Amino acid sequence: MSKYAQVIIDISHEKVDRPFTYRVPAELRETLWPGSIVRVPFGKGNTIRQGYVTALLDESGYEDDQLKEIADAVSPDDPKKQAAANQVALAAWMKQQYGSTMSAALKTVLTTGRRGTGKVRREVELTASPAEAKEALDLFEKKHQVARARLLLSLLEVPRQPYSLVTAKLHITPQTIRALEDKKLLAVRESRTLRDPVSFRDGEAAQIELNADQKRIVAEVTADAAAGKCTVSLIHGITGSGKTEVYISIIRRIVESGKAAIVLIPEISLTYQTLLRFYRYFGNRVSVVNSSMTEAEKNDQFERASSGEIDVIIGPRSALFTPFPRIGVIIIDEEHEGSYKNEQMPKYHAREVAIRIAQMHGAVVVLGSATPSLAAYDAAVQGQYRLFELTKRATGGALARVSIADMREELRAGNRSILSRKLAEKLGERLERKEQTMLFLNRRGFSGFVSCRSCGYVVKCPHCDVSLSLHRNGKLVCHYCGYEQPSVKQCPECGSPYIAGFRAGTEQVEEYLCAVYPGARILRMDADTTRRKGDYERILSAFAAEEADILVGTQMIVKGHDFPKVTLVGILLADLSLHAGDYAAAEKTFQLLTQAAGRAGRGDREGEVIFQTYQPDNYAILHAAAQDYRGFYEEEILYRRMLRYPPAAHMLAVQFISPSEEACLRRAGEIRAFLDSTYPGALVIGPAAGQPVMLRDQYRYVIYIKEEKYDKLVQYKNGIEEKNEADRQDGNNAASRAVTTQFDFDPVNVF
Ligand code: ADP
Ligand code: ZN
Ligand code: ZN
Repeated sequence: MSKYAQVIIDISHEKVDRPFTYRVPAELRETLWPGSIVRVPFGKGNTIRQGYVTALLDESGYEDDQLKEIADAVSPDDPKKQAAANQVALAAWMKQQYGSTMSAALKTVLTTGRRGTGKVRREVELTASPAEAKEALDLFEKKHQVARARLLLSLLEVPRQPYSLVTAKLHITPQTIRALEDKKLLAVRESRTLRDPVSFRDGEAAQIELNADQKRIVAEVTADAAAGKCTVSLIHGITGSGKTEVYISIIRRIVESGKAAIVLIPEISLTYQTLLRFYRYFGNRVSVVNSSMTEAEKNDQFERASSGEIDVIIGPRSALFTPFPRIGVIIIDEEHEGSYKNEQMPKYHAREVAIRIAQMHGAVVVLGSATPSLAAYDAAVQGQYRLFELTKRATGGALARVSIADMREELRAGNRSILSRKLAEKLGERLERKEQTMLFLNRRGFSGFVSCRSCGYVVKCPHCDVSLSLHRNGKLVCHYCGYEQPSVKQCPECGSPYIAGFRAGTEQVEEYLCAVYPGARILRMDADTTRRKGDYERILSAFAAEEADILVGTQMIVKGHDFPKVTLVGILLADLSLHAGDYAAAEKTFQLLTQAAGRAGRGDREGEVIFQTYQPDNYAILHAAAQDYRGFYEEEILYRRMLRYPPAAHMLAVQFISPSEEACLRRAGEIRAFLDSTYPGALVIGPAAGQPVMLRDQYRYVIYIKEEKYDKLVQYKNGIEEKNEADRQDGNNAASRAVTTQFDFDPVNVF
């Protein structure tokens, strides 16, 4: 019944940064909604342009005769047009909710429309009979033709697979594929010649009988979906408890009802094994997007989604914006992952946007994690989400045993090595028994920062104000901007020669292990060994193929991939991430430790985990060692409530960025004064220096505002936007022009 509508016009133009207000003619008042496509008179000549309704208003703030009237509404019978309209309405919501320009929001939500090459999709299909294939497999194995064997083994499991999956994720070269093609073992087919996808879906996929806990989740979630209830469910389930199997069952039912599914999985966890499980059920009705795809390739996938060629899309955060005409379920696996927060404007969180999209489509949302974010778990405890717990591994088997090694004790006992006596002993046992070990160090580089033992001076990057790291080639390197300089022999501050690095990097651990265990085969995984595309997968594949005894690495090694032969996980410095300096440091530490502990004992042998720490009494470390999520939650939420940190309250970070520190600080001070005078009740903190205060030659300062109600923060954000706009129009406020303002609601990383 709204009398006014905000309309975004002709979205292909860059200049449409704001919606325009129009009168809604009486005959359209019942039918318009955010996302409706309308035609409106625009500009001096009142040419009729197409636009999208982004909001409906009861009051316009203008006199009626100042406003033009919507000419007519375009009936949204074309599903593609409707999908586009939905996306525009979503962008408008994001602009409002997170604070960004309309064009930044539109760019996030819409594809550029640039189309790909339209290359046909190819698939690799096993053509030999199973008996012939097995015979060939034996031969390849005898000849140690590992790639051929790997491909054939995989095709015996799932006989038809996308060509790109085989090459990119299974690391099979086109030559190997051609060799097997020549031997008439397989055929490469184009998608045009593919059989009806439905018959594929009904194929030989081995059915897993869900257990009672899994069935209950599937039943309740699909009942909500069928009833059109937009519920959010959180599955708190330990690694291996069968969450993925639950997702697949839910999606199958939703797809059968004619709706589509979006599955978000952090890129790092998107393994070949996981993808195969989806292909097995959904064949070529499923598609994957990832960050290494070009814009055009992504558009091709989105095009297939909007035209109904696929039912399921899997990908990272941006897959949320797949323009399916009818979405039935959005699944977010590893819900706690930091990568679900966009760190560019608009700084949205995938969980919140997923819930909004679900409301627009009448869909359900399913979140899953072994270590849910405090935000999601708290919402579930408060009754806003359904909470499901899966406490047992689906295939049986016990959780690993965790013990703590107090490194202060080690020092007192005269042990100055990287490994505690206990971890060294266990590691020796594993090497003897030919079992695998993972050692996790929450840090990168040959050694950390370089500092003077006499005066405390720390060598820092001149552009980023972070300490430089010493690399083995003798260079000091900045991990933010890549700045390099030769190492220093004398303290630039006091001249002392006692300036050196603290040695605690993955390279150094590797060197130590090589020296102490000369026979051991060691792989290292960190940012330095995974620079090139495919490095990450290659190292994990090699470790999975038991080409090494020990894998040393940073947090990258705690995610994805199952290693059945790993029976020992050592965490070398459990407390390092406690010093990250943000309110969520304990939560992140708990998550990392729990996930790392979950890597041990995934096979039939029992696993052991050792946390080495200088703070054995810390509650995050203790609860992680006890594998007690609930206990951790209860302690952590008290702290958040006491200090009014999210999720106990909401927090808005207003970030100021400028090449001039003076301008940055002045603007931050002006906004602080503006907030204090305009919203006297608001709890405002700062301005404070960002961490680091300078990044890529830009100074960074931040103001924090805490509030119970999110809407209040949106109101403050709007106020600041209006003030920025007014000051800009004024023209004489130089500071407002030289300083960029960004907003971050409920920030998850320190600014
Ligand atoms: P999660 O996603 O929670 O880590 P998965 O769904 O990957 O767990 O399940 C772990 C393993 O257990 C997989 O190999 C899966 O096939 C198997 N699995 C899951 N549910 C069942 C079940 N009901 N019966 C037998 N095996 C199961
Ligand atoms: Zn010095
Ligand atoms: Zn730098």
